[in-house]
Amino acid sequence: MKTEQQIRIDLAAALRLSAKLGMHEAVANHFSAAVSEDGKSFLLNPKWVHFSKVKASDLILVHADDAGSFEKGKIDSTAWAIHGQIHKLRPDIKVIMHLHPIYATALSCLKNPTLLPIEQNSARYFNRVSYDSHYSGMADQTAEGQRLAQLLQTNTRLLMGNHGVLIGSHDIGLAFDDMYTFERSSQILIHAYSTSQTLNILDDAVAEKTAQDWEKIEDFSIAHFEEMKEILAAEDPSFMD
Ligand SMILES: [Zn+2]
Repeated sequence: MKTEQQIRIDLAAALRLSAKLGMHEAVANHFSAAVSEDGKSFLLNPKWVHFSKVKASDLILVHADDAGSFEKGKIDSTAWAIHGQIHKLRPDIKVIMHLHPIYATALSCLKNPTLLPIEQNSARYFNRVSYDSHYSGMADQTAEGQRLAQLLQTNTRLLMGNHGVLIGSHDIGLAFDDMYTFERSSQILIHAYSTSQTLNILDDAVAEKTAQDWEKIEDFSIAHFEEMKEILAAEDPSFMD
């Protein structure tokens, strides 16, 4: 497992890069990363701080079983409840990223929100996304975190109906690339829908093979994140502070 300091730097980079790509929303949304094997100790971005300003040292260490582990006002209790329960119930998921990016969120608002396999990116998600169709207002209870963890089943991606998307992974770089690719896939699908022409959906066998091919090249996703981190470091290395 990476050191807490390495995790802090990578998580701060992922937050800044998400803002750079316009995937953040105002001063909302949360990313978390476990620093313990059981997932219960995790870092979370501070409440109402713009993603583009977050430094490694700004990330707050909290514990899923200790509601008193966060200083009131410094982190969002909603984020503690939801991220904490998912980290606790799915210790294989070391990183959780939750955003409301435009295209994935638009897809989540359709009656059929399925991320259909129509090209190489969207095929990555074939039969590998859970869908929540029970939006019920702003969530702030551990019960909501438990419900979302159960909805994930064995998946690491949850398209939250009428809301946004949640991506889990065992690695920050992989989660970042998966969020990027999920949003890009949604963008392509929404553009394809907007032509009003019939979609040419890939055969199940081709979609499944493509999804498996993606799973064999995690190093591609890591390289994407490392390249983006280098670009960020050249522009403004303060995320590492
Ligand atoms: Zn949200």
